[in-house]
Amino acid sequence: MVNMITKQIYYEDTYKKELDCEVISAEVGIDLTEVVLDQTIFYPEGGGQPSDQGKLEEAKVVSVRLIDGEIVHQVKGDLAEGQKVRALIDWERRYKFMKIHSAGHLLHDHLVGKYESLIPLKGNHGKKSFIEYEGSIEGSKEDIEKEVNDLLNRDLIIVTKVASFDELKKLCKFVPENLPKNKPLRMIQIGDFAPMPDGGVHVRSTKEIGKILIYSIDSDHGKVNVRYGVS
Ligand SMILES: [Zn+2]
Repeated sequence: MVNMITKQIYYEDTYKKELDCEVISAEVGIDLTEVVLDQTIFYPEGGGQPSDQGKLEEAKVVSVRLIDGEIVHQVKGDLAEGQKVRALIDWERRYKFMKIHSAGHLLHDHLVGKYESLIPLKGNHGKKSFIEYEGSIEGSKEDIEKEVNDLLNRDLIIVTKVASFDELKKLCKFVPENLPKNKPLRMIQIGDFAPMPDGGVHVRSTKEIGKILIYSIDSDHGKVNVRYGVS
C-alpha cells in the first residue's frame, strides 16, 4: 500500500472544526476542482457515514471522497497548488453523523448480543439510517429502543483506533471479506462489547448520542432491517 499524502487529522482529533492546511494539488474540472491537502479535518465518505462539507477559505467543499488511496476534496471555487488555506467543516452536519454512526454501532452491539444468530449484512448512517441482518428479531421496536437507551445511559466509552487485518480477525466477531485495501484499517469498541472493523468518526461516549429512536423493524425473506435515528 502506498502511503496517503494527506495527514488524517479527523482521526487524531475527531472534534477539530478548523485547521490551517496547504494545497498539494488542485485539478480543475468542469464543475468542481479536486483538491488534495497536506492534512485535513474533512472526513471522506465511507463505511456508511456521509462525507463532511464545509469551506477551504471561500471555496465551498461539496463532497470529500477517497479516490485511489487519496483524500480528494471536491470544491466549488478557485484554489491553486501551494496555497495556504483555512479549512472549516460544517460541524452541525458532521456531529449529527458522528452521533448517528455511533448509535448504529451501539444498536448493533446490543442486537448481536441479544439475538446471537444475527449476521450483519449492511448499514447506513446517513440521512436514512438503518442496519440490516440475516436472521430475525423477536422483540418489539419499543422494547429494543428501551434496552438500547438503557445501555446508552450507562455512558460507555467509545474507542476507535488503527488495527491490522490480523488483529481484527483475532478480536472481532464479524470481519467482512471486502475490507478496503487502499487505506489503513481501523476498529471501534464500545464499552466491553466486541470490537468491530470501522473507519468512521465517532463521539467519545454513548451519552453524547442523546437518545436512540427505533423507527421500524421489518422482516422479509429471512432478513431483518432496523431503521433508527437519534434525537
Ligand atoms: Zn461503522
